[in-house]
Amino acid sequence: MGKYIYMDNAATTPVKKEVLEEMMPYFTEKYGNPSSVYSLGNISKRAVESAREKVAKVLHADKREIFFTGGGSEADNWAIKGIAFGNKDKGNHIITTKIEHHGILHTCEYLQKNGFEVTYLDVDKYGLINLEDLKNAITDKTILISIMFANNEIGTIQPIKEIGEIAKENKIYFHTDAVQAIGHIDINVKELNIDLLSLSAHKFYGPKGIGALYIRQGVKIDPLISGGGQERNRRAGTENVPGIVGIGKAIELAYENLDGHNDKLIKLRDSLIEKIQSNIPYVRLNGHPTYRLPGNVNMCFQFIEGESLLLSLDMEGIAGSSGSACTSGSLDPSHVLLAIGLPHEIAHGSLRLSLGDFNTEEELDYVVEKLIKIVDRLRRMSPLYEKIKEEK
Ligand SMILES: *Cc1c(COP(=O)(O)O)cnc(C)c1O
Repeated sequence: MGKYIYMDNAATTPVKKEVLEEMMPYFTEKYGNPSSVYSLGNISKRAVESAREKVAKVLHADKREIFFTGGGSEADNWAIKGIAFGNKDKGNHIITTKIEHHGILHTCEYLQKNGFEVTYLDVDKYGLINLEDLKNAITDKTILISIMFANNEIGTIQPIKEIGEIAKENKIYFHTDAVQAIGHIDINVKELNIDLLSLSAHKFYGPKGIGALYIRQGVKIDPLISGGGQERNRRAGTENVPGIVGIGKAIELAYENLDGHNDKLIKLRDSLIEKIQSNIPYVRLNGHPTYRLPGNVNMCFQFIEGESLLLSLDMEGIAGSSGSACTSGSLDPSHVLLAIGLPHEIAHGSLRLSLGDFNTEEELDYVVEKLIKIVDRLRRMSPLYEKIKEEK
């Protein structure tokens, strides 16, 4: 493959070399089962516990509060179903938002088919929830509030501290899907009153298929996966030792120079937004101007289809996304863009470029140069655009 520009870091990231190197021995010579009593097993067990400590440290949690899962979706499923089924004697009501990842939304829909009630909070034009709406949605049957830390499509960061306070005052469990936030935001679960938090390694330069759920001590939760006694009887299955070693190393690296890394991304992000807005007419930035993930650029290009834009960019060796990876392949516009109030035809013309550690300023210039040409070509095929141009 020739020159390739990857700007889809919110979908996944490459595994960093240092992470892979640390994982490698656990596939071959250090292959013991952590549950085995002999020393080979112990080597694996120690590696798992060391990774658990690294994750706990970043979240300011205790290592006994970290449980490894098979990724972000499993952590989300576990948090929602585990709290729902483990606390159904107290109530059957869950509050979430309309802009969650499908790992949350589809799990909530499943629960609705099984006797639970779910309130999906609206968001404003920036993708922020309204705290009064949240307070008003609480009933004496509410057992869980699940609100994402930062949105994967538009990058909006929610007022997590305020949400945590409301949950605590009302003695309701608070879960947050922090899959997009980890690696960008310093999160102190104690200060933020977070009871459960999901994360996933492949969004911060770790391997795919490994994640974790933070569960505050004392939270009543059912297991999602039953079987052996791994993860202190809460998540059965022989541990994914290389993956766990990988998530430990990746999270450590991500927080080693958090500010420097974010500053670089913010600079690139704002530069990309500025370059697009000053060179292409009829574009709109989606998401909040400042409560926003450092690497997230999401824009609507009026009069064109996001899908055609993506295909054209791909032909120029540029990878982006027109919504979340999970929804591409379907022709429905993104539920997030509809929730912030965009009409269908505008939501269809959206493009997300998510920047990461390996992107450069030179790449931005190349992308903008191509984008100007592609957008112009696609718009010239749009009768609506031609009409608007004539009227001007
Ligand atoms: C990617 C993502 C997930 C799913 O994580 P996987 O590890 O891919 O299952 C969940 N929530 C958000 C916000 C995400 O961005």
